[in-house]
Amino acid sequence: MPKLRTTSGACWIWFGDAMKKFLLIILLLLTTSIASAEELPFVDNFIPQSDYRDRLTDEYTLKHYGKICRTIVPQAVVVHWTAMGTLESNRNFFSGAERSDGTLNVASQFLCDRDGTIWRLMPETNFARHIIGYNHCAIGIENVGGYGGREDLTDAQLAANVRLIKYLHAKYPTIRYVFGHYQQNAARASGLYVELVTGYHSIKSDPGPTFMRGLREQLEDDGLIFYDE
Ligand SMILES: [Zn+2]
Repeated sequence: MPKLRTTSGACWIWFGDAMKKFLLIILLLLTTSIASAEELPFVDNFIPQSDYRDRLTDEYTLKHYGKICRTIVPQAVVVHWTAMGTLESNRNFFSGAERSDGTLNVASQFLCDRDGTIWRLMPETNFARHIIGYNHCAIGIENVGGYGGREDLTDAQLAANVRLIKYLHAKYPTIRYVFGHYQQNAARASGLYVELVTGYHSIKSDPGPTFMRGLREQLEDDGLIFYDE
């Protein structure tokens, strides 16, 4: 009997070890899949928010859109280039609350470096001033580059923008349009354009037709609407 008990005990020890290993493997697989499911296409590096910035946002949105909107329901993604600077210098530029004329400073929700690294500069449904007429409903992606107006955005930026827009589209089914800043007039066909100040507009060339064609090729099948040149 003692022998049998020993065998039975050894058996239980073996079974216990195997079970531990099995559970460990399951745990590892679960952790890995949770980690990859939560892997975001950006890292957070928020610009400072303040009561003063909120007040300037209120003034801007009331004047240009006829309502106070500190947050938005995203219906479009607008793609830009910075035309100057680095990831850090552009973030610094956007960090100030006001422009030299005392109005709300420009900013965007996302900033993409030339190697494809993306910084989220604020919660993505926060209001940001990046394109006349559409800020009330558009998430902005600024891409570092476009120096001297040249179409010099990189393949890494294209891939990163595709990944980010897919992420945003999945998260916000209200997003239907993707356009470049230079396509702001064509995008009026969306019906989203609102600007209460007569004659308030600017001419833009960012981020260039090559980049927008690249985005369109990879995203149009997702049911997003793009514009011709
Ligand atoms: Zn722009």
